Amino acid sequence: MEKQNQIESGRVVGQKIMTLFELIDNDNILSCLDNIVSGKKVSTAYLFHGKDGAGTEAFALEFAAKLLCGSRNNKPCGSCSSCRKMKTLQHPDLFLVYPLPSKEDSRTIDPFKGLSSKKIEEIQQLLQKKSEDPYTKLLVSGARSIPISFVRWIRKQVYMKPQESSARCVIVFDAHLLTIEASNAFLKVLEEPPENTIFILTSEFPESILPTIRSRCQALFFPQLPEGKIENKLVQKGIPGEKAKLIANLSAGDLTAAYKILDYDIIEIEDMAINLLVYIATWNKNKLKEKLQNMVEIYRKDQYKFFLVLKIIQRWFMDAALLKLGMDGHLVLYNRRDRLIRFVKSFPDFDVEGLHRAIDYCVDLLRSNVYISLALVNLFFDLKEGLGRRAK
Ligand SMILES: [Zn+2]
Repeated sequence: MEKQNQIESGRVVGQKIMTLFELIDNDNILSCLDNIVSGKKVSTAYLFHGKDGAGTEAFALEFAAKLLCGSRNNKPCGSCSSCRKMKTLQHPDLFLVYPLPSKEDSRTIDPFKGLSSKKIEEIQQLLQKKSEDPYTKLLVSGARSIPISFVRWIRKQVYMKPQESSARCVIVFDAHLLTIEASNAFLKVLEEPPENTIFILTSEFPESILPTIRSRCQALFFPQLPEGKIENKLVQKGIPGEKAKLIANLSAGDLTAAYKILDYDIIEIEDMAINLLVYIATWNKNKLKEKLQNMVEIYRKDQYKFFLVLKIIQRWFMDAALLKLGMDGHLVLYNRRDRLIRFVKSFPDFDVEGLHRAIDYCVDLLRSNVYISLALVNLFFDLKEGLGRRAK
């Protein structure tokens, strides 16, 4: 009971919070949702915006569990039939909407029609993963938007009576990916809201949602999670401490992004970043030419990986600055400490802010579609300048 009181006041003791899904509390959002349910002031539509891995999707599921639970408490009891079905995301009154590969021109009201059995199997696996860890991303390969057929399908369901619970929840993941047609169809549903139905939209880019949809939603912002919470979560999943610390740092408060980074060989990416710095420091033109080609290739194949290399270079300079201040305990690239020490000795005047800016500038150039080779050559020169003179 004591624990429960602490949760209600928004404080959580230790890692354990009483929720159906395993959540990382974010800025008292959980108690805010509890208050909505217990105050019986539930709106028709919500927009949970912020990074996916800050908890927008995970809390949308938890909120649905609260609303559908048979115990009529403000927390899901975890044991009723509704909670058990919710836990596996197989509740008949829970409708999940997400991007799918689909042909827009069809008049179908079944968004899954025409998908191969392999694709259906992929979706089922993704749903299972999502139920086990709601911070994983339900990212169906080849899916770029939420087709209108998905909204037609929802519209067909929501005007009927809920099957099991007293209410029904529709969660639209990545709501900014509703196509124009799907958005307009969805707006019509919101304009004539079906009884006992709650819509929860989640999005990292709320400004890309139709304003008329947005204005019908109660918005709730999810700030990024503290790095320490992400690091703990990764360690719980068996990731070694130093690696967890680096990935948590690169994820910028987004657990879903941290999971994505886990798919990469982060040590290999660290090596790439450091090699590049060595060639810039020694201004080895042949090696730099090779590296340029290599980076261009990575950029064309996998932009996410490319930007991870840049982020690690940025982190390197930050760590070098910390080392200079004697703050060894705060290093993220702690496994590279010896090399960092050598770097600081060789380049005692490096300009940490200038170097940081140089990378941000390169990212800006690429986002505005400047030719990749040009942006990189510019970056190499900027980094060389930022390093300053080499100590004798
Ligand atoms: Zn329950």
